[in-house]
Amino acid sequence: MNNLMKAFESRRVEREKTTLRNSKSNYRKNLNIDVPKGLYEKCPKCSETVNMKEMYDDAFICKHCGDHFKMRAIDRINITVDQGSFIEKGLGYITLNPLFNDGYDEKIKKYQEKTNLDEAYIYGYGRINGNPCVIGVMDSYFLMGSMGSVVGEKVTRSFEYAIYKKLPIIIFTASGGARMQEGIFSLMQMAKTSAGVLQHSDQGLLYISVLTHPTTGGVTASFASLGDITLAEPGALIGFAGPRVIEQTINQKLPEGFQRSEFLLAKGFVDKIVKRSDLKETLAKLLKFHRGY
Ligand SMILES: [Zn+2]
Repeated sequence: MNNLMKAFESRRVEREKTTLRNSKSNYRKNLNIDVPKGLYEKCPKCSETVNMKEMYDDAFICKHCGDHFKMRAIDRINITVDQGSFIEKGLGYITLNPLFNDGYDEKIKKYQEKTNLDEAYIYGYGRINGNPCVIGVMDSYFLMGSMGSVVGEKVTRSFEYAIYKKLPIIIFTASGGARMQEGIFSLMQMAKTSAGVLQHSDQGLLYISVLTHPTTGGVTASFASLGDITLAEPGALIGFAGPRVIEQTINQKLPEGFQRSEFLLAKGFVDKIVKRSDLKETLAKLLKFHRGY
């Protein structure tokens, strides 16, 4: 096990401790609620109670109805790349508060402590069934996976790193969109990340975008939609503006299942819906196919 995997492991252990701590403190807070939040959670789709420890081993898929729960970036990397092959890149960025937004610094600090991440995006080198690639993952537990200056910079750098290494890139998106607290600076990331995609594409390299629940706002409107191949997880919410805003704007009722991956597949926005349990195999196949040797 290399040092970085060790660092990951210690982050995971730390995180589990935090979850346990949170579940204990929540238990005290909500004494009249049957189960403490954290250890057991209710499936939003079938309302069955699921043990989150078991869910961890089942790649966060509900065993009752097959619903795909949200996942943390580190867990996603763990189930996607070959064990011990991940080398994290792009460390050491510091999130600033360019618009002097009240409470933003504290918020970032709180999320850093809660998630053991520096920001809402991780990337690095990894292998999937032996196929080398650059892999980037957004973490929706960090401020809704919103894209501020650091996330935008890291996404762009991950494309630049893939160009430097002449490698395909896979990005798992999960985001609430551009980060409001950074205003115009976060909107600028949409153009910057898109330019990164273009430069990578100009080198004839492959970009696979995997849309996971939820991918919305400025992330959908930039690099998430620009993949050579766009995959999505079942039932994921993918869209730009929320359905209520659209209904009010166009003054029409929206169709059933609007903005879900199945609807987008039917409309040609997504190439294929892949179950989480088949994702690693599918990605490996695509990488191998494009490697050509
Ligand atoms: Zn369920």
